[in-house]
Amino acid sequence: MIDHVKFGLYQSMDNMPFEQPGRLEEAARLIIGQAKTGCDLVQKGEYKKAVSIGGGMHHAKATSGEGFCLYNDVAFTARYLLETHKLERVMILDTDAHAGNGTCEYFYEEPRVLFIDLHQDPRTLYPGTGFAKDIGSGKGRGYTVNVPLPPNAGYDSYHRIFCEIVEPIAREFQPQIIIRNGGSDPHADDGLTDLGLPVRGFHMIGERVRNLCDEVCEGREIDLIASGYNKRVLPYAWLALLAGLAGWHIDVLEPQPATRKFARDPAYTETKMVEAELKSNLKPFWKCFQTHTPAPF
Ligand SMILES: [Zn+2]
Repeated sequence: MIDHVKFGLYQSMDNMPFEQPGRLEEAARLIIGQAKTGCDLVQKGEYKKAVSIGGGMHHAKATSGEGFCLYNDVAFTARYLLETHKLERVMILDTDAHAGNGTCEYFYEEPRVLFIDLHQDPRTLYPGTGFAKDIGSGKGRGYTVNVPLPPNAGYDSYHRIFCEIVEPIAREFQPQIIIRNGGSDPHADDGLTDLGLPVRGFHMIGERVRNLCDEVCEGREIDLIASGYNKRVLPYAWLALLAGLAGWHIDVLEPQPATRKFARDPAYTETKMVEAELKSNLKPFWKCFQTHTPAPF
């Protein structure tokens, strides 16, 4: 059954042949099970946070897998929290370099799920979706926030987007829990992408997510961590992210020698233009953009 597959510019062929996914399917089910266990542990109050290593299969759609993803554990986690644990407001923060096209489709009309997705400009990377104008539809309009970052966007760009977009919207939405997904592929030396995040940028993301969770949802967070196509970088970036999330005071260094290092974020000015476009598009839906004074350029 391949009639639902659209063969576009960025069509992912990695789940071929159809209906023969073999052990991948078993692994995909285990990842769903990990997410479910994480939700139960956090909702029972046993832990504030749960980390699912190998999770974040954000390209999988409701009816088909793609982009190395068979079942979407990000979408599962949000649905499970809404339906089984009876939550009313769930926030998903996707920091993977690729747009979470599967997750986006699941909740495009769902106002109970705030989906904020930071990813490389879709004109330059698979899956080619997630433009700033795509903000949800119907009752879900305003609850999808796509942040298409220009190639080479690094520490300063991510920091700026957290301060100006992610955190103000989250404070206004007041989620009961935050689900974050994404691994090391925004790193400057990743083999598949063209972003510019250094290892300390992953620590910053973890730290800001931890502080945000403490502020809005009593620290509750499910972290689905995977991706990364440079094996030398991956353990450093994941560790830095987890250290930030957990509040561990360790200094994770950049693996040496880094091939692409930026003294300054070369995409910062372009990122501020994306930020301005987002604020303009989202202003009707979020009070923070009607009164908020942006940090100076
Ligand atoms: Zn990715």
